[in-house]
Amino acid sequence: MQEVRIQALAPERFAPLVGAEQARRLEEASAALRSRLGSATVWNVNSTGAGGGVAEMLQPLLAYARGGGIDARWLVIEGDAEFFRITKRLHNGFHGGAGDGGPLGEAEHRHYTEVLRANAEELLALVDRGDIVLLHDPQTAGLVPAMAGTGAVTVWRSHIGSDRSNDLVERSWSFLRPLLSEAAGFVFSRSEYVPSWLQGDARVHVIAPSIDPFSAKNQDLAPETVRSMLGHVGIVADGGIAHPGFVRRDGSPGRVDHLADIVRTGPAPGPDVPLVVQVSRWDRLKDMQGLMEGFAEHLVAGSPAHLALAGPNVSGVADDPEGAEVLGECFDAWRELPHAARARIQLVCLPMSDIEENAAIVNALQRHASVIVQKSLAEGFGLTVAEAMWKATPVLASRVGGIQDQIVDGEHGLLLEDPTDHAELGRALRRLLDDPEGARRLGAAGRRRITERFLGSRHLVEYAELFTTLLDARSAPA
Ligand code: UDP
Repeated sequence: MQEVRIQALAPERFAPLVGAEQARRLEEASAALRSRLGSATVWNVNSTGAGGGVAEMLQPLLAYARGGGIDARWLVIEGDAEFFRITKRLHNGFHGGAGDGGPLGEAEHRHYTEVLRANAEELLALVDRGDIVLLHDPQTAGLVPAMAGTGAVTVWRSHIGSDRSNDLVERSWSFLRPLLSEAAGFVFSRSEYVPSWLQGDARVHVIAPSIDPFSAKNQDLAPETVRSMLGHVGIVADGGIAHPGFVRRDGSPGRVDHLADIVRTGPAPGPDVPLVVQVSRWDRLKDMQGLMEGFAEHLVAGSPAHLALAGPNVSGVADDPEGAEVLGECFDAWRELPHAARARIQLVCLPMSDIEENAAIVNALQRHASVIVQKSLAEGFGLTVAEAMWKATPVLASRVGGIQDQIVDGEHGLLLEDPTDHAELGRALRRLLDDPEGARRLGAAGRRRITERFLGSRHLVEYAELFTTLLDARSAPA
């Protein structure tokens, strides 16, 4: 297991954004947890230190917890390629999909539990009585049994789920369920994700995800900085001369140095060309390919807009074995497009060697975009949606998963009823591109929505209250 280093950040930073009342709640909740924990630790365990939504949230949340005097720490499990193939199958299953179509039988269960047994040995050497162990997602669920005798409070959080159950969802649950029985708490990102076998169980809690408004991903950037970052990496032409700088989490200066790997014919679009953008991991459920094909069918004629599909460099996300394959499929589909469409659509792999540099480029893309699309076929929460709304950029996203909790259609953005309907996608995109004033209003409402509901301060309060309650319950006489 690897430990990810977390520095401390002052939770007081939230006060000017969220107001005195929310700031006071955060202070009280932290104080209560601090006194309940004493010298105990809150361990977080997941399967990657960078890439994807969970890593994105853990970094700031744990930093604010540490800044609030709580010893929050982060461990990343180790597994081999077969382990991550199995957990990706589970992940796809929880989204109701078949993934690579492989089995989840006894052999897979044996391999999964063996890999986690090796990880558990290291975890057991660290965990102490009175600690909290928060295990994230299917990759870590199999650590629950090993925690039983430690005197720690073990909570399992699933960041994913399906709006409706089907055989594949049930198959994933049958795989994990026997391992989860001894958890003291379960956290889901939405109530729809609570499986039938946990309905009515008092151990279940619902806590929505959040973004960090001050991170390299979400901090304010001047328009000229945005332009120079995108010019530097090669997505937009004529970057200008501003220094493509940002502020790192530790307060030190950062700069965008690396370039993006870009597939495109012809020159980059100029800074004034409307740019439609989707930022995602290269995952079939994000449907980059569908967006590309829908854009080619319905936007290339009669609109000056360009499309950028941006994802991480495919070697950069350790727990996502399908990235290279999905990028390859997108590339093959791009080559099949008519020339006029290819000249307007770019596939972008963002550098991942410096995660804050990567975040700053995503920030610039989300600010520069005329529309941010998230055309997912399934989605746990969809942090990319919250990130774009926070920047007041108009969003068009599928009515799936947690996206529905973020956007009320026509109020904070537009929802696609059927994410596979290219004509609907085309109409909605045109509506936003042809009516900049209406799109601006949706963007502004989006920012208010995120401020009210989806910033880290609210998330920290809910975690602190939950942990305090669980520790109280643990020490109460039977
Ligand atoms: N992301 C990133 N760089 C990339 C692609 C994605 O930082 O090249 C981030 C994105 O900004 C978001 C997270 O990865 O913060 C993805 O979270 P989301 O909830 O949208 O989807 P997940 O990947 O967890 O399914």
